[in-house]
Amino acid sequence: LLTASGVSRSFGPTPALLDASLTLYPGEIVAVMGPSGSGKSTLLHCLAGVVRPDEGRIEYDGTDLTTASDTELSALRRTEFGFLFQFGQLVPELSCLENVALPLRLDGESRRRAERTAAQWLDRLDVGDLAAKTPGECSGGEGQRVAVARALVTRPRVVFADEPTGALDSLNGERVIRLLTDAARESGAAVVVVTHEARVAAYADREVVVRDGRTRDLGGVG
Ligand code: ATP
Ligand code: MG
Repeated sequence: LLTASGVSRSFGPTPALLDASLTLYPGEIVAVMGPSGSGKSTLLHCLAGVVRPDEGRIEYDGTDLTTASDTELSALRRTEFGFLFQFGQLVPELSCLENVALPLRLDGESRRRAERTAAQWLDRLDVGDLAAKTPGECSGGEGQRVAVARALVTRPRVVFADEPTGALDSLNGERVIRLLTDAARESGAAVVVVTHEARVAAYADREVVVRDGRTRDLGGVG
C-alpha cells in the first residue's frame, strides 16, 4: 500500500532521516519506536506527504509522493489518510460532533449526513454522550477518543498517529490505543503509530525501530 525506500531528509547540516525504508501493507498496524530525536516524526511526515524527502522514493497506491504536486498531496491527505497527534488538535470553538463531522464537511457532504456519520463514530468510541460538548469540556482521554473518531470518519486507508497516547495516563492510553486499533481493523485501515511505549506497540502487528534516522524492522511483536 505504502512503500518508502532510501528516504533521507535533513534540516540544516544534520540528517533527521538517513536512508530509511518502510513497507506498509493494507490493514496492517505498524509501531514506530526509537529514542527522542531519532527521526520518528520526520519519517511519519514523509510517509504522509507532509514533508518532502531530499532523497528516496515513497509510493502510495501507485502515486510517487516525492514528485506529486502539492494539490495531489493535499487531496490524498484529505481523502485517503487520517491523522492523530499527541494532543487531540480538535477545533476548540466547535462541538465534539462538529469536530468529527468536519473532515466530511470539507469533502462536500451535507451537514446532516456528516453529523449523522460523526455521531455513529462517537458512539463507537464510547464518547457519544460528549457530542454537544466542546473539546475544552473533555478530559484528555475523552478528547483523544474524539480525535480517533475524527481520524477514522472518512474511512481512510492509512491512519498516521504520532504518540497518540503520549499525554495520557496508562489506563487512558491503553483505552485509546485499543479503540484505535480495533476500529482501524474493523474498517480495514492501516495504521502507522509512533510511540515510546512498549505497551502501546504491543497492539501493532509489527515494529520498526528508528535510530539516528535509520530504520530497522523488528518484525512481529505478537
Ligand atoms: P521525539 O521522540 O522527541 O518526538 P522524533 O524521533 O520524532 O523525536 P524528529 O521530530 O523526527 O524526532 O526529529 C529528528 C531530528 O530532526 C531532530 O534532531 C530534530 O531536531 C530535527 N527536526 C525535525 N523537524 C525539524 C524542523 N522542522 N526543523 C528543524 N529541525 C527539525
Ligand atoms: Mg516525534
